[in-house]
Amino acid sequence: MTEKEIIQIFKKEKALLEGHFLLSSGLHSPNYMQCALVLQKPWIAEKLCKALAKKLSQYKASVVVGPALGGMIVSYELGRALKVRSIFAERQDQIFSLRRGFSVKKGERVIAVEDVITTGKSVHEVIDLLEREGAKVVAVASIVDRSGGQAIFQQDFLSILSMNIKAYRPQECPICKAGKIALTKPGSRKIG
Ligand SMILES: [Zn+2]
Repeated sequence: MTEKEIIQIFKKEKALLEGHFLLSSGLHSPNYMQCALVLQKPWIAEKLCKALAKKLSQYKASVVVGPALGGMIVSYELGRALKVRSIFAERQDQIFSLRRGFSVKKGERVIAVEDVITTGKSVHEVIDLLEREGAKVVAVASIVDRSGGQAIFQQDFLSILSMNIKAYRPQECPICKAGKIALTKPGSRKIG
């Protein structure tokens, strides 16, 4: 699967929109991405995760772990593709932990996974948790890397789509300046 094919899937599922968007950060952007709209179709999630799994089999992990909620579907589908356990970490009093009886073994080879990595903050927290538990984190993986090279990990970081989505402060927004496209808030009913 090429990045071009993946972008086509995102566009078809309206998970990647073009226009003029007000992001939750207050910044304006010509694009908006919502990976959940792609992953809501399990057959697409399966296909994307199979493509990502091809890059991950070399790490010989025996479990994949994602942060809830964003990383859960990707973790599950990667687990299916790699035929390894899939678990997730949840925040408890703001700190990620393994609940529901989930555990990792001492020295167990683990891949930390996420749907979209922007800053990598959640994944870093999951890596810290896994290392505290004694596991060996051998790689980090996500469907989309939109960090623009800003998410740095000690481990190899693999994704199947790199996207550097631009965002501007309102007073510097070129789309506002052009004045042709009205500003919309992603998730509002007008979109789609
Ligand atoms: Zn604007």
